[in-house]
Amino acid sequence: MRINCRVCGGDVEAALDLGRQPTANGFLRPDEIESELFFRLAVGRCDRCTTVQLLEEVKQEVRYHDGYRYQASGSAGHRRHFAENARRFMDTELTGPDPFIVEIGCNDGVMLAAIAEAGVRHLGVEPSGNVARVAAAKGVRVLGEFFDETTAKAVRDGDGPADVIFGANTICHISHIGSVFRGVDALLADGGVFVFEEPYLGTIVDRTAFDQIYDEHIFYFTVRSVQAIAAHYGFELVDAEPIWMHGGEIRYTIARPGRRVPSASVARLLAEEHARGLNEPETLERLRVIVEGVREDLTDLLRRLKAQGRRVVGYGAPAKCTTVTNFCGIGPELLPYVCDSTPEKQGHLVPGSHIPVLPPEVFAADYPDYAVLFAWNHAEEIMAKETGFTEAGGRWILYIPTVHVPGG
Ligand SMILES: [Zn+2]
Repeated sequence: MRINCRVCGGDVEAALDLGRQPTANGFLRPDEIESELFFRLAVGRCDRCTTVQLLEEVKQEVRYHDGYRYQASGSAGHRRHFAENARRFMDTELTGPDPFIVEIGCNDGVMLAAIAEAGVRHLGVEPSGNVARVAAAKGVRVLGEFFDETTAKAVRDGDGPADVIFGANTICHISHIGSVFRGVDALLADGGVFVFEEPYLGTIVDRTAFDQIYDEHIFYFTVRSVQAIAAHYGFELVDAEPIWMHGGEIRYTIARPGRRVPSASVARLLAEEHARGLNEPETLERLRVIVEGVREDLTDLLRRLKAQGRRVVGYGAPAKCTTVTNFCGIGPELLPYVCDSTPEKQGHLVPGSHIPVLPPEVFAADYPDYAVLFAWNHAEEIMAKETGFTEAGGRWILYIPTVHVPGG
């Protein structure tokens, strides 16, 4: 399987294939199993600009419908992070007489609510109706559209140039990346910045976090590839800052060429990537071998525990859970349920693997012997909250970066 690169048209060949998968956030009711859609989840690297990307994709209308279930404000850590972002923008970029900030995919307004509260001119562009309504209820001005060239030009005509265009975990989701960058070109003030925070291929490789790969993540950026993408669309990468979100991301800052002095961190991270060969074709090949090992270890462990009569369930049903259970072939026979605190997921099934999602009260009422922690990026928060489970003799199973049972 091969495609032309969505950025530069170069050659992209499948290098890491995670098999037949459904849309990762398509939690479904038992009566919807018949109509479930599957696609081939595989990534490859562009032989020209090095951008790692999905080969096959699910239409975006299927992914971001009204039932889209991810709310960014769900975790206390996320709320703190985005409040800090808002403060930073107001202290640094939004200091002129009438500043204007646009957020691509503002989700439930987790970042823009603080900007709105400060009375700063802003606009969230958010195609998912249900989360957009939550944002609007917080006083955020929302436009219910996909961000592209047409939308950006309309915003520019109505509101003037933006000093900041921001996106968090959104740019990697957008297949029409050329239209996004042309939109940024139309909307961004001459001295403005386009800032986006996205999962980092370096982290995925370091942690074997293959569960970050799912239908919504079209691109898996590196500093080198973002630099190439920026240059391809007539911009310059001027900063790259590692942040802890989602287990390790990078915040990229892009400006018009020559408008800002690139930070030392760009050169440092590029040198690091070069030294470890992150942008070389062998990276995905090595990851494939390791990931296949994780699959073998995890399924072996679950089968062994089952044979010993141990009760094992899943904890947390993020999109990651879909990738892992489908790639490893783990269904309700190995994990009778996963518990998750999101009310909209409860009573539904994990896409593809059809493991029931139940409320955390079920977990607490009758603790199992083991719990596979799918929401591993919140491990600290969860383990601190679930001391009752471990005090009752329960053990966590983690599969990142390798399959292990902490303390056991
Ligand atoms: Zn390319």
